[in-house]
Amino acid sequence: MVRHSATLALDEALRARQAAGQRVLHLGFGEAGLPVPGTVADVLAGAAGRNGYGPVAGSPEARRAAAGWFTRRGLPTEAGHVLFAPGSKALLFALLTALPGDVVLPTPAWVSYAAQSALAGKRVIGVPVPAEAGGVPDPERLARVLREERPGVLVLTVPDNPTGTVARPEHVRAVCELAGRHGLAVIADEIYTELIHDARTPARPAALLPERTVVTCGLSKSMALGGWRIGFARLPAGPFGDALMTELTGIASEVWSSLAAPMQAVAAHVLAEPPEVRAHIAAARRLHAGVARAVHAEFTAAGADCRPPEAGFYLYPDFGPLRPALAARGLDGAAALADALLTEHGVGVLPGDAFGDDPRALRFRAATSLLYGETEAERRAALHGGDPLALPWIAAALTRLRAALTALPSGPRRTR
Ligand code: PMP
Ligand code: GLU
Repeated sequence: MVRHSATLALDEALRARQAAGQRVLHLGFGEAGLPVPGTVADVLAGAAGRNGYGPVAGSPEARRAAAGWFTRRGLPTEAGHVLFAPGSKALLFALLTALPGDVVLPTPAWVSYAAQSALAGKRVIGVPVPAEAGGVPDPERLARVLREERPGVLVLTVPDNPTGTVARPEHVRAVCELAGRHGLAVIADEIYTELIHDARTPARPAALLPERTVVTCGLSKSMALGGWRIGFARLPAGPFGDALMTELTGIASEVWSSLAAPMQAVAAHVLAEPPEVRAHIAAARRLHAGVARAVHAEFTAAGADCRPPEAGFYLYPDFGPLRPALAARGLDGAAALADALLTEHGVGVLPGDAFGDDPRALRFRAATSLLYGETEAERRAALHGGDPLALPWIAAALTRLRAALTALPSGPRRTR
């Protein structure tokens, strides 16, 4: 049985609670939580008449724009190596289906890689991430695994979901070197790459292992267009990339045909990076950084260990230091901890086991991007109105989170 993806299931459950009148602090879903810029909405409206299917891989304009976008980021790309799809999730599934062999995932990793691998009939080999940052397996542990196993695919998430961190360049280099030596294909999921808080350039697997790395990306996070479902992939030049492109367009042609034509017009506009798009993403980066830092401060003040946020809008606290107090009231794992936060305090988070982590660990993911506001006006104020932490609804959310975390260790004993 294929279960409802944990991220989407929690979002729907939390929104149902809200619709039923419950007060919920929604930290459960990685939706970027920002308004659509007016110019981008105009491009979409202007493209409403484009009702043809178009080529499977995408329109020439959209593919050229994406190629230029990658090329400006130090990855020279031709339009013919770009493939668009309704979300990068569809591309990841197509890739995991097309590429042979077992799949190595960092632990923890975003929920859908393992589920999609299972759908594609692949075995998953989880390798823990280094202490510094997530999104890549610890190189020494990966080297040990590769002495015993012969996987075909390595997935890297740089920057990372769920930890909100950016893998260290030496770790990316080391795992790409191992992938090259062992003949693995690398899927570099770079959907958060525009949201690195200090705008530094991360180490890029496609530059380190050019002939065997596929990059997936999209506009769901940088432009907060998740519901518009715009994803794209960059395939490597050379025989491996050419064969993969044929296979991927074959899968695409049988599963989704093409990305909706009006969305391709949006992609061509956004990926050409006009000034208002650049300004929007820069403002989003500042907002994500400011709010994630404030929530991080709440977790560490409550006694949790938590990597400081470096990109996007996620935190992955570890309440292990509070284990004695939490265990005394029956909170002995991620699911019980997340459940107590929700049922006792209305705080929705996704337990670490959803990301392949040890269910006994007291870890969960908190997404901070739905704190920006419930209405479009609130979100605009958060994005453009100076200090977001001074906005009453964001300040109130932080106060509420603090109260929940403070009360958590001394709550009622739970029975099973
Ligand atoms: N990769 C990661 C790491 C994500 O967090 C997401 C979020 N949905 C995706 C891929 C897929 O995004 P989309 O399908 O909206 O492009
Ligand atoms: N990627 C987002 C998350 O991790 C949500 C969307 C999804 O999972 O498809 O919460």
